[in-house]
Amino acid sequence: MARTVLVTGGNRGIGLAIAQAFAKQGDRVAITHRGTGAPDGDLFGVQCDMTDPASIDAAFTEVEEKLGPVEVLVANAGMTADTLLLRMTDEQFTDVVETNLTGAFRVAKRATPKMVRARWGRMIFISSVVGLSGNPGQVNYAASKAGLVGVARSIARELASRNITANVVAPGFIDTAMTDVLSDERKAEIRKQIPLGRMATPEEVASVVTWLAGDGAVYVTGAVIPVDGGMGMGH
Ligand code: NDP
Repeated sequence: MARTVLVTGGNRGIGLAIAQAFAKQGDRVAITHRGTGAPDGDLFGVQCDMTDPASIDAAFTEVEEKLGPVEVLVANAGMTADTLLLRMTDEQFTDVVETNLTGAFRVAKRATPKMVRARWGRMIFISSVVGLSGNPGQVNYAASKAGLVGVARSIARELASRNITANVVAPGFIDTAMTDVLSDERKAEIRKQIPLGRMATPEEVASVVTWLAGDGAVYVTGAVIPVDGGMGMGH
């Protein structure tokens, strides 16, 4: 059955791969962007800034009018502002938490009334392996990504009786603009910590997200699923 799916930050990177994977299986897919538009004709683009509650509300209203209530929400939009703890400003900390964690809370909250009414919903939060393991230079980012686990698991408990599941996908090292900024030396170092010995493609994350929203995962909620080539095993 075709569903209405909203992927935040679906204009590029992992979010775009997720959006395209849902579109490929016949779902109605909307993506949020911050002015670039939708890069693919099958996707419905809405402008949205995760740090602005009014813009989130307007984006949902537009999607609801065009495609119907959001049944599958993928909170994917995210940013980094890496630096060591001693150099990290309050602003660098709060900006990252505001986008990655508070933004995810806002979209989840906005999606909830209609999912409750439909007595069906799927929420998938894109966290990171570093949310569980920590990472030097990423106190802000790791905190925001760890926070998503608490958000998802609380929602899983609050809304299970309405047949709404909430799960977390924790990618490892994925080949996108976010990891492009790392030096070749740093990439080689990271690769050594990955049992599968390579970075993943965005599509390899997307396939886990579509599975979580599909019939094969109806009994999965409150889970944190690593897609990290074994990098975070044990965390
Ligand atoms: P990219 O940097 O390629 O894309 C980030 C996306 O988030 C863009 O669509 C961007 O929009 C959007 N975004 C950022 N800030 C905001 C904001 N304030 N409001 C709305 N949208 C915003 O990242 P990836 O595709 O690599 O990452 C996607 C998700 O996966 C992120 O949450 C990231 O933390 C997570 N992740 C990535 C990993 C990796 O190795 N790449 C590993 C683990 C997790 P715009 O185009 O307008 O900038």
